[in-house]
Amino acid sequence: MEEKIVLTKLNKKELTDFILSLDEKEFRAKQIISWIYNKSATTFDEMTDVKKELREKLKEIALITDVKIKTKQVSKDGTIKYLLEYSDGNLAECVLMRFDNRGNLTACVSSQIGCPMGCVFCATGKRGFIRNMLPYEIVEQILTIQRDTKLKVTNVVFMGQGEPFYNFENVYSAIEIINSELQIGIRRITVSTCGIVPNIKKIASKALVPTLAISLHAPISSLRKSIMPVENKYDLNELKSALQYYIEKTGKRVTLEYVLIGKLTDTKEVALELIKYMKDLKCNVNLIPYNPVMGDTYKKPSKKDIMTFKYLLESSGKKVTIRLERGADIDAACGQLAGKAQ
Ligand code: SAH
Ligand code: SF4
Repeated sequence: MEEKIVLTKLNKKELTDFILSLDEKEFRAKQIISWIYNKSATTFDEMTDVKKELREKLKEIALITDVKIKTKQVSKDGTIKYLLEYSDGNLAECVLMRFDNRGNLTACVSSQIGCPMGCVFCATGKRGFIRNMLPYEIVEQILTIQRDTKLKVTNVVFMGQGEPFYNFENVYSAIEIINSELQIGIRRITVSTCGIVPNIKKIASKALVPTLAISLHAPISSLRKSIMPVENKYDLNELKSALQYYIEKTGKRVTLEYVLIGKLTDTKEVALELIKYMKDLKCNVNLIPYNPVMGDTYKKPSKKDIMTFKYLLESSGKKVTIRLERGADIDAACGQLAGKAQ
């Protein structure tokens, strides 16, 4: 038997050509695209305005998707973590975060299987790099969530496994699909990067410019080097210039993500350095209390140190938020995605 055609692997034009090749009219392709992307259909039978004969034909020769849910875990705070299995057997996670006070449903998606960046505090980094994800494999994470929950995702953050700016073209193609087919506004799409300088500049000139979050985590080069190898390649000075370029070019503000590791990056001295670094930078700060990763030597920050750190940054005039710990009971919190079956 010939292999079935996977419809979400096809772009809009390819999908339209495929439907036309079945001697169907173009509006049928439009209907099917709408069922797949807007209504998150799981089966061809759901596509009730598509005539039965075509649905039966599609069942024989096509699949909506070839991505499977391997496991699904629901946290007591409502966060859902999915472990997805791709057609080559590789696994990756995505997370749905809900119940924030604005009614947003945020999908946290992965962009690579594993990650090549090697940050010492991150479970993904420990696992090493396997491969880049294709655009449809990224989009599928959102579709899977929508199919499974019957809810509409309102925001997307590239904060799962992988370094999105080391898979730039595929991530950008995915953003185009998320924006046009899934109809999620570009302001509701955030890319988080550990600081791949050339691609921070590159995204600033694109037609679709997502919101940018930067994993800064340390304002002093030697300290940053000791936890983030990327500092050896693109250092804090270059990073700051790239951010200034992005801000000037796009008029947008950036978010600096900052992991507070107990007695290492959460001290008063480091806070003062961070304030110096952020001078002249149009940014907000998102503090992330370190989430312990199995077998790690780093510590969580104390409540008091978190509050002191926050207070110091606020006194310098920055808007500071503390990232709520989501789904820690199911290892779905920041840095805990390892992409392995339990
Ligand atoms: N690779 C990109 C996208 C991942 S986003 C990046 O690093 O920006 C995930 C966020 O969680 C990043 O800011 C990352 O640095 C942070 N993180 C990683 N490990 C963590 C941990 N153990 N505790 C808290 N945050 C962590
Ligand atoms: Fe990769 Fe981001 Fe983890 Fe660093 S923090 S290893 S860049 S996923």
